[in-house]
Amino acid sequence: MLSSSNTSKAKKTSNKREHTPSFICEIPLRVTRRQEQILEARFEAGRQLYNALLGEAKKRLALVRQSIGYTKAKKSTNKKERQAHFAAARQAHGFSAYSLEAFADEVVRDHKKIRRLQRKQDRQRRANNPDCYDEKGRVIKGKRPTKKSRHQWETETELQELYRREAAHRKTLHGQLANQVMAMGTHIKTEKLNYKAFQKTFGRSIGVRAPKLFFSILTRKAESAGGKVEEFSTYHTALSQVCLCGQKHKKKLSERVHACDCGVVMQRDLFSGYLAKHVQEGRLQVADANEHWQGAEPLLRTAWQQAYNPPASGRQGPFRTLPSSFGTFRSQSGSSEKESLPEHKAQDVVATAQASARACESAKV
Ligand SMILES: [Zn+2]
Repeated sequence: MLSSSNTSKAKKTSNKREHTPSFICEIPLRVTRRQEQILEARFEAGRQLYNALLGEAKKRLALVRQSIGYTKAKKSTNKKERQAHFAAARQAHGFSAYSLEAFADEVVRDHKKIRRLQRKQDRQRRANNPDCYDEKGRVIKGKRPTKKSRHQWETETELQELYRREAAHRKTLHGQLANQVMAMGTHIKTEKLNYKAFQKTFGRSIGVRAPKLFFSILTRKAESAGGKVEEFSTYHTALSQVCLCGQKHKKKLSERVHACDCGVVMQRDLFSGYLAKHVQEGRLQVADANEHWQGAEPLLRTAWQQAYNPPASGRQGPFRTLPSSFGTFRSQSGSSEKESLPEHKAQDVVATAQASARACESAKV
């Protein structure tokens, strides 16, 4: 099927420039019904995301233009001052590619909608198969709901599309995170974890976050880059319990800070990450870890602090949001107020990033 159109219509409306007749040739793709559905769904998802982002960006731009900083910038004649005012106004209203990207994340992961549809589906299933449930609404053993109404089919299709979209989004995020880790090094050490057992403790959120999938993506990427991922058993190392001084402190999972009598105070995962670096052949080399601690401590501290007070400009390290498992920042004296923090500036950005990457590895502890 070919369709063509020339620009004679355009000529009538504007006679500014002579147009040579041009043709648009449309060749339909040969696709199956299923492929067409997939393409349409993806195009629709892209269109909706684009429109949502455009709307949000326009809203934010309007706010920027109404702000005091913007007016000041327009009045200012000093070029540097002008730029600073504009930048401050943009930052105050989140008008940057990064903030909009973060906004896009929220749009894609629509857990509320999924939950709503799941409940709807459940109601429909019950209404369509009343003989499978007793008077209290409990499932009668041995009876399987088999009847589906047209509306239930529709709900299921809609749900499937949301699941698919969520899975695709998760895969993208996993890939991004793996790339960020890979940028810091291709030899990765991590604890051998039983991801299946996680499901018992953390339930559905493991299904949504899929740590095992992330791990396999990371392994594949590291290996294809000539590096490797080394897993060591937690049985002998128990990194979250031990200290440099040799003492063992058994901690609950809710205790996120490692604080020892010997003076070591560090976020638990960062500290485990540091210790993981000094694991060789499945055993922690304490002397090795002790030797390098003086140099590593300020870096880890900076990483910990920056997780709380990200530097005003740019992205907050390699991670967008702070995992809730991170615990509150504590200064060396043990107080947890933010105000008493010394202003650490990251002198060695790479090393800090490395530290937080290890934290990410051991965040799975
Ligand atoms: Zn200690």
